[in-house]
Amino acid sequence: MAKSPEEEHPVKAFGWAARDSSGVLSPFNFSRRATSEKDVMFKVLYCGICHSDLHSVKNEWGVSQYPLLPGHEIVGVVTEVGSKVQTFKVGDKVGVGCMVGSCHSCDDCTNNLENYCPKVILTYNSIYNDGTPTYGGYSDIMVADEHFVVRWPDNLPLDAGAPLLCAGITTYSPLKYFGLDKPGMHVGVVGLGGLGHVAVKFAKAFGVKVTVIRTSPNKKKEAIEHLGADLFLVSRDADQMQAAIGTMDGIIDTVSAVHPLLPLIGLLKSHGKLVMVGAPDRPLELPVMPLLMGRKIIAGSGIGGMKETQEMIDFAAKHNITADAEVISVDYVNTAMERLAKANVRYRFVIDIGNTLKAA
Ligand SMILES: [Zn+2]
Ligand SMILES: [Zn+2]
Repeated sequence: MAKSPEEEHPVKAFGWAARDSSGVLSPFNFSRRATSEKDVMFKVLYCGICHSDLHSVKNEWGVSQYPLLPGHEIVGVVTEVGSKVQTFKVGDKVGVGCMVGSCHSCDDCTNNLENYCPKVILTYNSIYNDGTPTYGGYSDIMVADEHFVVRWPDNLPLDAGAPLLCAGITTYSPLKYFGLDKPGMHVGVVGLGGLGHVAVKFAKAFGVKVTVIRTSPNKKKEAIEHLGADLFLVSRDADQMQAAIGTMDGIIDTVSAVHPLLPLIGLLKSHGKLVMVGAPDRPLELPVMPLLMGRKIIAGSGIGGMKETQEMIDFAAKHNITADAEVISVDYVNTAMERLAKANVRYRFVIDIGNTLKAA
């Protein structure tokens, strides 16, 4: 018979988990594996709330296994390292993002793209190498193979920096890979939530001209004055859209709701790239003719490999890039999820695990 989550492993742990697709989170006793040779164990101090956490606790992608303990924007301080760990020592600040394992031998792994490994092991709602479920960062301690642990720069805040481990790499990686990081380029960012607001910050740090594209004009002042965007485009305003046709080298589309692509393709110059990083739960309509006229590309991108994640974190520290975080206590997490479902957050909730998570 399978052991209960509480007794599978020797290290007692505590967190908040959902037990069914109501998505309601509540205190949960479980256990973590002992620190093996290449493992790093750390005390969790902060964990961001990603939109994926909300989809997962409510089983909106149809793959959730309960109990489900979410969280993949995890930062903390190392408490124990295995005998063969080379990069970390007790007391170091570290982070863990969306994945905790991969095969280490496929083409993607060999090219530092563990995120695209067919055997990637996600930080929660996955099955680890030892056959046990993975549990995320809404918990007091975390243990992970050092390969999947990020070194945390001293000057990067732990709380507001935590969301970079998912939202940051998700937007940084496509800007780099698709060559949208060259000064003087013009990049559109569709949507201004957790992903969109950091996309603006990275793009500005690369020296590109940034236009935020939204259906409603209500965050214009915020986008320009606070986040540093150059322009703001209301996609429902036909005149504004007409005037912007053919002006962009690329677009990072962070919207996870079903939405029309045709107007966005129209904004691209010839050879422009529309990169999807949100994940709508239904197919979008793809008009092909406007792609042919100008050799335009529609692409997707999902998080990034560990080498690039470290590079992104170091870049963020150098350029003082963090997420705009609303730091909450763990007992506010269900309210936060409700607010997140209504996009009522500016721009990322981060749970203060270190100060507010108390064992039951
Ligand atoms: Zn995420
Ligand atoms: Zn692999």
